[in-house]
Amino acid sequence: MKLSLVIPCYNEELNIRPFYDAAVNAFSGMGYRFELVFVNDGSKDGTYQELKKLCEEKKTAVTVLNFSRNFGKEAAIYAGLQSARGEYIALIDADLQQRPEIVAQMAAILDEHEEYDCVTAYQEYRKEGRMMGWFKDNFYKIINKMCDIEFVSGASDFRTFRRCVADAVLSLPECDRFSKGIFSWVGFETFYIPYTVEERYAGETKWSFWKLVKYAVSGMVSFSTFPLKIATFMGGFVSALAIFYMITVVIQKLVFSIDIPGYPTIIVLILLLGGLQLMILGILGEYIARGYMQGKKRPVYVLKNKLTSDDGMDGGQ
Ligand code: UDP
Ligand code: MG
Repeated sequence: MKLSLVIPCYNEELNIRPFYDAAVNAFSGMGYRFELVFVNDGSKDGTYQELKKLCEEKKTAVTVLNFSRNFGKEAAIYAGLQSARGEYIALIDADLQQRPEIVAQMAAILDEHEEYDCVTAYQEYRKEGRMMGWFKDNFYKIINKMCDIEFVSGASDFRTFRRCVADAVLSLPECDRFSKGIFSWVGFETFYIPYTVEERYAGETKWSFWKLVKYAVSGMVSFSTFPLKIATFMGGFVSALAIFYMITVVIQKLVFSIDIPGYPTIIVLILLLGGLQLMILGILGEYIARGYMQGKKRPVYVLKNKLTSDDGMDGGQ
């Protein structure tokens, strides 16, 4: 098996068939064997029925992993990687925003360049609104400052890589998975190619603004311990200010006999320090919560059932 496509699907009923057709079209002339590994991430629409039909047609090697509920795209990617048997593995969305033809180009790059182990597509021009673009750019700036590994702005989960990369990614046992970070962390030479995001074929995006914020926080907490050090810096800074203020007050009182009105100062200080302490507690809580969840050693996903079409078939033939 030359190539496995891992496709996370959540409520993609109307996209499954068009995606399948596009994929078969893109690879059938390539002369190598490929498989489609669909992961049904607890869809509430007819996605599973559509996938089942594809499996029963037995025209192409198709595997369907059916989750017991929605575990999120990261869990779906993990499950897909575990089942993929290809020499090369590609991650691609089911909504045709990322064209399967580009996967063929990525595979060709891996064929030609032995020195590269991974090909990642990045968005040259972002299609989202200005606000969202601004938030994403700044997220990358901040996370790159905080972490030792590099996050490339605009780089997506749309990538094709060799088996050694997949094995390395699977060897990380974390339950709170942040793919962008994991792929940077495992290393390997990566080739970046620009691509343009197409319009969604059908349905809508599952990422609301707050879901993205949560995802961004999860990325920062998973790959950096810098936020934990903020307390130390702030503590030092506030203590220095307090000492400076104390000296000023003593001098004012003893040397110049100026009365210091205490009430507003106390309120401001209580609020400021109270706020800072709560914030720092919150940051500590983020780390403790993640340690706690990891300590439970729950599986990343629960599989309800698995369907496969016949093995050993030539893709699209
Ligand atoms: N997805 C998933 N589980 C989720 C959310 C999304 O498997 O909980 C899949 C979804 O079906 C799609 C891919 O992840 O194939 C990307 O999702 P989406 O298109 O909503 O994200 P966007 O392209 O807007 O970033
Ligand atoms: Mg999409």
